[in-house]
Amino acid sequence: MMTEVIDAHSKITNLSHKRKGKNTMKTPKCLKCGNEIPNKNDRILVNHPTGDRYYCRECVRALHERLTSARTYSEENGKFQSKPTAQGYTISKEFEIPTRVQYMFDRAKLDMILANMDAKGWIPTHDCTVWAECKSPIYHGLQSYNKDIKTIAKLLEVERWSHDDSYGTHTNIGHTDFNEARMETIRKWRETLITPLQNTIKNDRDGCIAIYGRYFTDYADTMSGSPAHDHCCFINLQHSRWIEFRLNKFISVEQDNRATKMSIEIFDHLLNFSRKVDANRACLNGSALADANRKEAEKTAKKLVKVWETYSAEARQASEMTA
Ligand SMILES: [Zn+2]
Repeated sequence: MMTEVIDAHSKITNLSHKRKGKNTMKTPKCLKCGNEIPNKNDRILVNHPTGDRYYCRECVRALHERLTSARTYSEENGKFQSKPTAQGYTISKEFEIPTRVQYMFDRAKLDMILANMDAKGWIPTHDCTVWAECKSPIYHGLQSYNKDIKTIAKLLEVERWSHDDSYGTHTNIGHTDFNEARMETIRKWRETLITPLQNTIKNDRDGCIAIYGRYFTDYADTMSGSPAHDHCCFINLQHSRWIEFRLNKFISVEQDNRATKMSIEIFDHLLNFSRKVDANRACLNGSALADANRKEAEKTAKKLVKVWETYSAEARQASEMTA
């Protein structure tokens, strides 16, 4: 008992010594703009690996303004959030937050949400169908992505509204070995590669909802139009450095994790297909080349269906267990 009192006393004395030290009286600075924030009410708390930090009111106001400014709509977030891994994959998300969330929380909580997401490199942009579309930085591999998404899902209290609302969490998967030439190969063979997977999903509504949290919509639809410009296709091939999987809707960390893993596997088979086409080109030509590529595309299409069936069974089992 006595030692505890002494310990407590020495702690207090240490603290008061520290207070007299040169660092502790400093006014906190905004993590974003670097300005001092003298008024306590203007400090928006941000959880940071180095401890509690703050955003200033002006910076948070600017984040809110981005949500109503149409010019932010098509912005891309090209920042990298982690170091490259040996596997070479990149993951980024476009996380739509439904309008309802804006009315569920008070202004202080919305400030916290925007400041904390921005501090992790998730930039808020305008989308008239939702409150916010936050574009994540580019993560190298699932591990670094998962660390941030867990914190963000908790902050947003996602599980309170994720089942009821209409929004999407598009998933972009890329690779250090992926480029416009490889994408062009995939675009060219799109019908052969993707039609069997598309038909499987069409006939597996329950599996689709278990994996992706929703079924085909106008914004994540079946194939139409030209492969390079079919933006709303559930597998969007318009970009050069990544494939966009548009069906995903964030329901929970576990569900999002499964959907992201599956997207990586599908991407992987498509990437391997484009590598094999390159190899065929090096040793074949004419109709022999076309035949070899067609065979390869058909083989890949079967693999995509198999990936879907595996994940569908797993996801349906998981949702039965939580139902
Ligand atoms: Zn600031």
